[in-house]
Amino acid sequence: MRISEGLTHIQSQLTDKVSLVAVSKTKPVTAIQEAYDAGQRIFGENKAQELAEKFELLPKDIEWHMIGHLQRNKVKYIAPFVALIHGVDSWRLLEEIDKRAKQNNRAIDCLLQLHIAQETTKFGLNESEVAEILGRQATLSNVRIVGLMGMASFTTDEQQVRKEFNNLKKSFDQLQGSYPELQTLSMGMSGDYRIAIEEGSTMVRVGSAIFGSRH
Ligand SMILES: *Cc1c(COP(=O)(O)O)cnc(C)c1O
Repeated sequence: MRISEGLTHIQSQLTDKVSLVAVSKTKPVTAIQEAYDAGQRIFGENKAQELAEKFELLPKDIEWHMIGHLQRNKVKYIAPFVALIHGVDSWRLLEEIDKRAKQNNRAIDCLLQLHIAQETTKFGLNESEVAEILGRQATLSNVRIVGLMGMASFTTDEQQVRKEFNNLKKSFDQLQGSYPELQTLSMGMSGDYRIAIEEGSTMVRVGSAIFGSRH
């Protein structure tokens, strides 16, 4: 399937409340340009250096999102331009993002990653850690926490996936009561974005369903 067809197929399933991050990790700039020419403007990558290289080569009105686990020593590569960092999973990382944002005279939007999957291997914070970070965020002047992100278990059990997304949405709604600036709920990938949207996602991160499988 061509990239533009994949994009159209995904977009036809989104409401105007859900935005699409086209996950272009490992894919060449020609593939991203093709998606751009078809109208897509938000792209996600999971490696800081790859993201910075692609930023240099592609149109400057692209909104670049960092979607994967981010190491503190890599923040500097993306701090000048990144639009949203999805997987923030520690206070120390947030401090580093704040520092690099300051050096670039800007504020950087971030999502806190809540651990929702059964697997213990996936990155993420628990609910009390999220609450603690939200409580301390005022001391960081150049980061804005604008929502939550989560990844469901890697399983074919749809009920399990649905339950995990539902838990994330409940946490999101509850935290929004105290922090109304939390507006973005990033959940859903190629295999589970339909369930994620049904459970209240406002942002899906879709790669292989647009660009084809990664090798
Ligand atoms: C790779 C990746 C995606 C997209 O995965 P697909 O299954 O190809 O849609 C989404 N989110 C994160 C954090 C990823 O690393």
